Amino acid sequence: MDIVTHALIGATAAAGWLPSQPELACGVVLGNVVPDLDAFSRLGGKQAFIRCHQTYTHSLAAMAAVLLVSVGLHFVSGPVWSMFVLGLAIGMVMHVGLDLTNSYGVQWAWPISRRRVALDWIFFIDLPALILTIAALGLIGMFGQDMAMLPWVSGIYVGLLFVYVAMRSLIARRAQRLAKESDEAAERTAVIPTTWLPWMFLVCRDLENASETFALNAITGQQSQARTVATFDAELPAAVSELIEWQAMRALSPYYRAVEQKQSSDEQAIVVRDLRIRNFDTRFGTLTCRLDAEGQIIDKQWEV
Ligand SMILES: [Zn+2]
Repeated sequence: MDIVTHALIGATAAAGWLPSQPELACGVVLGNVVPDLDAFSRLGGKQAFIRCHQTYTHSLAAMAAVLLVSVGLHFVSGPVWSMFVLGLAIGMVMHVGLDLTNSYGVQWAWPISRRRVALDWIFFIDLPALILTIAALGLIGMFGQDMAMLPWVSGIYVGLLFVYVAMRSLIARRAQRLAKESDEAAERTAVIPTTWLPWMFLVCRDLENASETFALNAITGQQSQARTVATFDAELPAAVSELIEWQAMRALSPYYRAVEQKQSSDEQAIVVRDLRIRNFDTRFGTLTCRLDAEGQIIDKQWEV
């Protein structure tokens, strides 16, 4: 999820413990945002961001280390800091659990495995999750004076959020099945959730020298916005496929495809983009290269 949603979810879930366990509650709020501090890797450049985001700070190893610190602090400095760090670990588990349901991919097994896992249940900005969270925060504001009500509101909110995520897993499974059934011969199909409607998905699959994209309604099975996009990966110059930018994006998405190729007498222009994630018409990852007659790159532009 985006960091604002993570912060709101952390605050809503932790509010119930604030009167009785303030250290734990503060830790839970912080833990819900701390993993995304890896976004500062952007200071090291776009490549560093693509390589680092949702890796070590989102790993089981990081969460286990924080939990161990909590246990150690319990014996060294007493329960206050120990509870704060325990809250931090709980918040991190919530954060990583939610990120796993998105489509970017989390290296949860870092450093043992660098494989990114994405369940494709919920897009990283999700309207129903935001409405649920803001409504619960509104109730917390209303019942703020009544300390006995806060644990109930937070507890019911966490329960409903859990039920919502479970429902999204079932809807996504149905969407994946419908997409597969519409073309049994397809070797690989990506089915990406959308922001506004939990039952709408964006599908992408391979054809020969092309990719097929369409929107899919997981309730009715209806397809819309169908497009066939010609791809030029077979003719992709080595100078482009050797670029770190191309390799980093291709590792994120097998549908990172050369979609435009223009040849003039002394120059060639290539555009590569991810056909899988098309939400908000994003150009995230799009790489535009100009090459000379010898196939060497003259200039490149990477939108990250
Ligand atoms: Zn994250």
